[in-house]
Amino acid sequence: MGKYGKRKMGLKKMVVLFSFIFLIFSCQNKGQEDLRKMEKKFMTLRERMVQEQIERRGIKDKKVLEAMRKVPRHLFVPEEYINEAYEDYPLPIGEGQTISQPYIVAKMTELLEIKEGEKVLEIGTGSGYQAAILAEMGAKVYTIEILPKLAEKAKKTLSNLGYENVTVLVGDGFKGYLPEAPYDKIIVTAAPEKIPEPLIEQLKIGGKLVIPVGKYNQELKLVNKKEEGIFVESVLPVRFVPMVGEVEK
Ligand code: SAH
Repeated sequence: MGKYGKRKMGLKKMVVLFSFIFLIFSCQNKGQEDLRKMEKKFMTLRERMVQEQIERRGIKDKKVLEAMRKVPRHLFVPEEYINEAYEDYPLPIGEGQTISQPYIVAKMTELLEIKEGEKVLEIGTGSGYQAAILAEMGAKVYTIEILPKLAEKAKKTLSNLGYENVTVLVGDGFKGYLPEAPYDKIIVTAAPEKIPEPLIEQLKIGGKLVIPVGKYNQELKLVNKKEEGIFVESVLPVRFVPMVGEVEK
């Protein structure tokens, strides 16, 4: 019994050990498979968002559409809203702020006519999603957020996703960001009651600025800065969180 008994015990142990290893492996595989399934689900939702909310409403810029197809919007919203990330509305991102509706992001980006390598200033980093879209299109982005907590979170999200051409700054965007001025394009995603003068000053001749303006009834404005002067046109009614800070004085 002695010899065989020992061997039997050995076999038993081996079986237990292998089952254990197998269990760990299959758990890991399952985890990875779940992740892959989730990513696939979000890709499908993203594609539907682009087709139904963005292309259907007339956005044509191929680079904008491509960026909106690529950037994982679900990673820019708080976890409790992850399943609503691709819906046709803005979502809370904490601190009383919101990530804009996908269509509005696309529309503002299209108005800017972004070209590879352009220097873009964004006021109102929020989640960092708009900055990611601009970076995805090859822009060099400087984005300013007045709330340090949001800036910190956006910085993490952007660096986790490998967006190296985005610099997140904490501060009041009313004054723009002089060290990197002038900018090819400027985008403002919080609404002042009138266009801050420093932003127009920090725009290059030939540059474009998109900005929501107004208190209750806001209008999205497109500003073209030309040799001959400043040209402002209204694009569509919008609803953004108010710009705070110096602009309120
Ligand atoms: N573009 C963001 C959404 C912006 S929400 C995104 O893609 O998620 C507007 C943001 O502007 C808020 O985070 C708010 O804190 C910020 N904000 C408001 N006033 C500001 C100011 N004066 N300077 C910089 N950021 C400001």
